[in-house]
Amino acid sequence: MPNLYSLKPSAQPNYLDIIFQFSPRKPGKQVIQLPIWRPGRYQAQHFAKNIPVLSAFSAGQAIEIRKTASSTWELDASESVEIHYSYYANQPDAGGSLVEEDLIYINFINCLLYVKGRENERCEIQVEKPAGWQSVCTFRKGGKYRELVDSPYIAAPAIFQHKWKCNGVKFSIDVVGSRHALTKNLIESYEKFTQTQLDWMGHFPVKEYHYMLWVCPKPYYHGVEHTKSTMMVMGPPDRDAYEDLIGLGSHELFHVWNIATIRPRELFPYSYDREVPFSTGWIVEGITTYLGDWFLYKSGVWTRPEYLAGLLGNLKLHFDRDANAQQSLEESSIDLWLDGYGASLPNKRASIYYKGAVVALALDLKLQAKNGKSLKEVMLAMNAEFGQLKKGYMKADFIRICEQVYGGSLQEFFQDFVERPTDITSHLQEIMAKSGMRFEHVSAKGWTLMDYNTL
Ligand SMILES: [Zn+2]
Repeated sequence: MPNLYSLKPSAQPNYLDIIFQFSPRKPGKQVIQLPIWRPGRYQAQHFAKNIPVLSAFSAGQAIEIRKTASSTWELDASESVEIHYSYYANQPDAGGSLVEEDLIYINFINCLLYVKGRENERCEIQVEKPAGWQSVCTFRKGGKYRELVDSPYIAAPAIFQHKWKCNGVKFSIDVVGSRHALTKNLIESYEKFTQTQLDWMGHFPVKEYHYMLWVCPKPYYHGVEHTKSTMMVMGPPDRDAYEDLIGLGSHELFHVWNIATIRPRELFPYSYDREVPFSTGWIVEGITTYLGDWFLYKSGVWTRPEYLAGLLGNLKLHFDRDANAQQSLEESSIDLWLDGYGASLPNKRASIYYKGAVVALALDLKLQAKNGKSLKEVMLAMNAEFGQLKKGYMKADFIRICEQVYGGSLQEFFQDFVERPTDITSHLQEIMAKSGMRFEHVSAKGWTLMDYNTL
């Protein structure tokens, strides 16, 4: 019998009532776990704080369930077990879960227990929703727990959709909260960058992909990547969200390769019960940030001046804020688990997003100037050697592939840009100058970017 999860909104506001059924593999002690973090945000979030108590039953009798750690419980059973509990679902962001009068949004990783060691088993899920509501979720019957917790669920009185096919893959934009976000302009742009990314990488790992969007009441802007979907939250409804939505959608789509498929070895497979530090967050988020924007230009969604304005914006986010960071990019990647995504000590960290994007730009330009190759060859090789073979990579693997594409040593480059907290301003200016771009600080204007290729 597969593990079975049944969920329904509780009579108590903002709670989900959940029943988890499983059969012990062996009679005796069963260790029950709730994830402490979710892929996409490398920081312990301890979702168990949203579960007041659990109760357990076996063969129709109540049995003891003991809490042994913040997200771990134990019970003894030889026959089929049912665990009943309620989850406080009141976290209105893309990585949380929320039950309200007009919306049910669930990240199963927040709230579904598993039997430790059985994350690869098949499971089934039933979610009760009000009559007449629509729902979207990419999880399919017979999938594993790992797939279930990578598949957000959304249900609402109405979901506004646009569906199309690209290179044989079914795509959909699914909007809740406001139909006005789904403009003709947005749809055309999504179709364009989707086509460009699929053609560029040549192989898309899944047959179906959903851009899910919740237009929320408050000012907000945030997205989470998954293998078969992204969840984006944007608000308030009356703002013009087009620019943010194309940037976010293009970024999240590239994560289907760059994290969901091509993944650091430490995250392969995901261990949900502990912190998993890794030093390559700049590959995951830096390359995705840089290429996400570049695909908007490559696909014709952005003009060259629009692209250069976006590039300058990302450069400023590093050079204005973090140019004096005491940590190297690798150290800051490991410290995601400490500092998370909010404020850290002044001048402590470099951003895996923005300094990471500077690394990606510099690498791309260096490759193009040397032999006409680019980050494309690097990412294709990473996909062939790691992504498609379902093998995790280490920093040394990435550097080796970059050096193969470059045809020479890049040790000094990676030392300066990634391994040490070196001031990279002049090194970057030199690389950009070779590609016909002048990036400089002008006292009256701040950082400026001139592109001599388009003059
Ligand atoms: Zn990202």
